[in-house]
Amino acid sequence: MEKRDYYEVLGVDRNADEATIKKAYRKLAMQYHPDKNPDNKEAEEKFKEASEAYEVLSDKEKRQIYDQYGHSGLENKFGGAGFSWEEFMHRSDLNDIFGDGFSSIFDTLFGGGFGSRNHRSSSGYNRGEDLQIELSLSLQEIAKGVEKTIKIGIKEPCDKCGGTGSAEGKTETCPTCKGTGQIRQIRQSLFGRMQTISECPNCQGEGKDIKNKCSKCYGEGRVGNVREIKVKIPPGVAEGQYVRLRGLGNVGARGGNRGDILVLIHEKQDELFERDGYNIVLEYPISVSQAVLGDEIIVPTLTGSVKMKVPAGTQSGRLFRLKGQGIQSPNSSSRGDQIVKIVVVTPTKLSRDEVELYTRLREFDKKRDLKPGKSFVSKLRSYFL
Ligand SMILES: [Zn+2]
Ligand SMILES: [Zn+2]
Repeated sequence: MEKRDYYEVLGVDRNADEATIKKAYRKLAMQYHPDKNPDNKEAEEKFKEASEAYEVLSDKEKRQIYDQYGHSGLENKFGGAGFSWEEFMHRSDLNDIFGDGFSSIFDTLFGGGFGSRNHRSSSGYNRGEDLQIELSLSLQEIAKGVEKTIKIGIKEPCDKCGGTGSAEGKTETCPTCKGTGQIRQIRQSLFGRMQTISECPNCQGEGKDIKNKCSKCYGEGRVGNVREIKVKIPPGVAEGQYVRLRGLGNVGARGGNRGDILVLIHEKQDELFERDGYNIVLEYPISVSQAVLGDEIIVPTLTGSVKMKVPAGTQSGRLFRLKGQGIQSPNSSSRGDQIVKIVVVTPTKLSRDEVELYTRLREFDKKRDLKPGKSFVSKLRSYFL
């Protein structure tokens, strides 16, 4: 089945803000919730579809990729096999839609895999924090992709206590929840009586109790280390985009899962080239005589230089395209082009000989019938770009 556009699924505008997207999803989730539509496969599918759309459009990074590349751009994000409930990271956002019972409904419906990759329970959040680091890249690095080494402080399991947070390296089972980390309750909800599971208040969902805290990590089970990490940056990234390094961020307290590292991309201004999507633009000045008679020029590119023929009679502002000399697109092997904009430079400091020559040329120019009108440049520009 052809995947529907996520914006269409939620019925929102392409430039809808976060609140609008959440509101739209809330409405659909209420409408198609499986509890309200028992044994209705279609409703369940609609519910899944809306949840997937919400997962993408409520996530800045995923939304940006989707806007740029559509569904195919997200294939890598969703572990190659497309969206599954393990990818749904916004369970905590949604407690207010269905109350605390929400997550247990999902666990029943979708086999417990729902959001479990990073979350321990509906409110217990033992996953380590995401870390953010900024990385400045040159156009040359962006054009082909690059591997960089970054230095970053990361919280890792404490070596003194083996990550347990306990001085003896031992933890006791929490007496309140008997080690499950959860308190089960029967409660009344929108969908009738249901069992809800909430986090144990004594151990915050960990199921463990620490009597004597480790002196190095003060019971947190993790300490900060400065690490060097190799980062592979794909080609074609742009200012303000993130590259996510899954599972390389802070480890959670006392054996929690690791967060991610978000590498925020900055694009260094290039002295020669201007970026235009996957194309790069270079302005190249030539003299009046070169423009009139034609010439061969050496044009710098991102990888070196190439010879380019300027034909006789080239107008100022004319654009030439050097195929495949631009920036590689991240999702295909195709590359952008380099656009060379020719600018004819009028000489200002003239020798006596030159003044003589230009005075003679003026006699010829007087016979040329130049008329005012729309500029050549703007016409040519719209033709090329
Ligand atoms: Zn407990
Ligand atoms: Zn420790």
